[in-house]
Amino acid sequence: MESTAPPLLNVEDRLAGIGGEIHDLVARLYPICRSITGEGVRETLRILAEQIQLEMSEVPTGTNVFDWTVPNEWNIRDAYVKNASGERIIDFRRSNLHVVNYSVPVRARLSLMELKEHLHTAPEHPDWIPYRTSYYSEDWGFCLSHNQLLELTEGEYEVCIDSTLEPGHLSYGECYLEGQTADEMLIYCHVCHPSLCNDNLSSIALAVFLARELSRRALRYSYRFLFAPGAIGSITWLRLNEAGLSKIKHGLVLSCLGDAGRSTYKKSRSGDTEIDRAATHMLQHSGRDYEIVDFSPWGHDERQFCSPGFDLPVGCLMRTPHGQFPEYHTSADNLDLVKPGFLADSFAKCLAIIDILESNRRYLNQNPKGEPHLGKRGLYRSIGGGPGGKERELAMLWVLNLADGRHDLLAIAERSGLGYGAIKYAADVLREHDLLREMEVPG
Ligand code: ZN
Repeated sequence: MESTAPPLLNVEDRLAGIGGEIHDLVARLYPICRSITGEGVRETLRILAEQIQLEMSEVPTGTNVFDWTVPNEWNIRDAYVKNASGERIIDFRRSNLHVVNYSVPVRARLSLMELKEHLHTAPEHPDWIPYRTSYYSEDWGFCLSHNQLLELTEGEYEVCIDSTLEPGHLSYGECYLEGQTADEMLIYCHVCHPSLCNDNLSSIALAVFLARELSRRALRYSYRFLFAPGAIGSITWLRLNEAGLSKIKHGLVLSCLGDAGRSTYKKSRSGDTEIDRAATHMLQHSGRDYEIVDFSPWGHDERQFCSPGFDLPVGCLMRTPHGQFPEYHTSADNLDLVKPGFLADSFAKCLAIIDILESNRRYLNQNPKGEPHLGKRGLYRSIGGGPGGKERELAMLWVLNLADGRHDLLAIAERSGLGYGAIKYAADVLREHDLLREMEVPG
């Protein structure tokens, strides 16, 4: 019998290179011009489907989804602004951020003053190209660095946006891993951003490797990984899958998981669900700086899952939250901002949360009158002595005391102040000695 509890953040040797592999997938997806609909999303999903079992869905334009309607599909082949000498001074082929996402097609010759009405910059970061969208109002525009804007001279400019905005489909992908029960954990990533790495290629790529890792394991829960455009994607999925939502027992929206910032967990709407407790405990015992924030109806797709008509137990795991890092929604959210080490750390934290949820159970102490005699069962000898022996003993005593059917293992960890790994290990040892019996799970 092993004498130490495994650490909570346990990335095994097999997964040591995971950060680099996740970063490689981010790099592969980076050049693609994604949007809330169109070929960029499909191409992205096809690449994900090389790595995991992905079922793709196509929802036609015009489909009513609660208070929303699936919009026209947007595709773009090319876009540029040429100066009087015919040079492409703003060029979609250099960066897809140069075009306002969802721009309607345009071909025109404009004066500088007319052109400027359609130009967007971020003066506070004069070298960066901002990311702008125009999903729900028909418009067009270009984004460029503020320094480049200042250099533009008077004259005639030729503008071309070779895009289409026509009836089509909204695409999303699902990877379903069947566990022992039909109860589900939902993991959601938005896939609508073009060449932006932390928001949200970091999470898309990380989720792919998470699904691959879980697909090799015997699972208690079934897992549903959902890759869909922000807001309209989750709303569409919720509308089409409303009948099965009661199966969702836990959920995580993943976003911005590759930057240098500390990990942040945003609680579900009710704030005290098992996923909230598991994520909180994991961060408290991670040995690293972290932040836990309450739910607010602002952020990513947890807004939809936590809308009052659903109120699902879905939190959001991030590093630096959206809008709070300077590179957010600019060309500086690039392959240098996300680092393999931070991706690996986020990956380990996701797995640690899942490890808690997979093993968290209620037990009944089979010898509740007085402490059971641990020495006569050899439990002191097998787990006592040596460094950490006192903690292991204490963990057993806490489990025995609180295994009254009302406390799950996570609650015992919370109340004892000990790490979940130590509590889980103590419970395993006690169960092997018939001192604990698992409670029947109702239904
Ligand atoms: Zn974003």
